[in-house]
Amino acid sequence: MKITLLGTGTPHPSLKRACSGYMIEVGDDLIVMDHGPDAHCRLLESPRAPTEVTHVFISHLHYDHCLDYARLVLQRWDVGAGKIPDLKVYGPAPIARMNDLLFREDGVFGPDVTARTEHELSLDIYKLRGGVLPRARPAPAVTEVRVGDVVEGGDWRVTVGYASHVQPYLACLAFRLDGPGGSMCYSGDSGGECEEIIALAKGCVFDDDPQILKLVTLLLEQAGHEVVASSAADQATGIVVTQLPDVVITDRMMPGRDGLDVVRRLRRRKELTGLTIILMSVDSSDDARWRREAKAAGADDFIGKPFELETFAGKVEDIAQTRRGGGA
Ligand SMILES: [Zn+2]
Repeated sequence: MKITLLGTGTPHPSLKRACSGYMIEVGDDLIVMDHGPDAHCRLLESPRAPTEVTHVFISHLHYDHCLDYARLVLQRWDVGAGKIPDLKVYGPAPIARMNDLLFREDGVFGPDVTARTEHELSLDIYKLRGGVLPRARPAPAVTEVRVGDVVEGGDWRVTVGYASHVQPYLACLAFRLDGPGGSMCYSGDSGGECEEIIALAKGCVFDDDPQILKLVTLLLEQAGHEVVASSAADQATGIVVTQLPDVVITDRMMPGRDGLDVVRRLRRRKELTGLTIILMSVDSSDDARWRREAKAAGADDFIGKPFELETFAGKVEDIAQTRRGGGA
C-alpha cells in the first residue's frame, strides 16, 4: 500500500498547498480520499492518471474536500472514452444529490456532456481515443455511506467512522482502510481530539519510517495540531522557521544530521519559544537516557518508537500543554 498526500491544505487560498486529497495505491485499485481544489493538479503531477482512479471516498461536503471531484469525473470520463469502468464513489449524504445535480442532463455539466456525446467533432476525438458509439454519459456509481458501513474492494476494505467536525450541518466521516500492506485512517477534518477516530485507527501498523511519519502526521492533524514531518534535517529547520507550527516532532537519526542538533538549532531561534519540540527514536531500549539527552538539547520530551496509537495524540497534547502552561 502506498499513500500519497496530494493536498493537506485548508480553504485559505494558496498556490503552494493544495486542499485535502490523499491517493492510495492498494492492489490493482487506485483510491482517492477527498479531492479538494488543486488536489487534482497534484494527481496530474504524480505518475498516476485520472483514468486509473477506481474509487473515490469523500469525508464531507466542505468544498475544500470535494471541489475537484467534478474535474476528476469529467476528465476520467472524457479520456477514458468508454473503455474504463465507471468510478465508484462513497461519501455522506447528500453526495448522491450533488453528483446528480452535477452530471444529469439538466445539471451543471449536463449541456457540456450533451455536446460531447452529440457533436461530431467531440465524437471524432472520442473515436480516435478508441471509443465506440453511441457515447454514454458519465455515470459514477455513488453510494451514500454512514458510520459503521464497510466497503469491500479487491483485497482491501474500508470501514466508515465518525469525524467530529461541523455537525449537524454536514455529515462528516472518517475512513479506515485495511489492505495487504497495512492500515491507515483518514479523516478530512475533525475539531480537536476525536475519540472516535483514535478508536477507528486502533491497530494500524506500518513497516518503515516514511510510513510512520505519515501516520504521525495523520494522528496529529486529526487531533487538531499543525505538524511538520520531514526526514531531511536542513529542510525541517527551514520549514519550521517559515511555517511556525505548534509542534515539531523530529527523529533522532536523520541523514546528515543528529536530531539533537536540529533541536538545538530550533531552540536558538527567538521566534520559536512557544514551539513544542518532541524527539522520537526507534531505539527506545533506554528511554530514560534518551529523554535526558533530548531535554538537555532543548526538546520538551522524548517518545520512543513503536508508540501506542491510542495514546499518541494525547501524549503529544500533554507535552504541548505542559510547555504552554509553563509559559515558556
Ligand atoms: Zn471541513
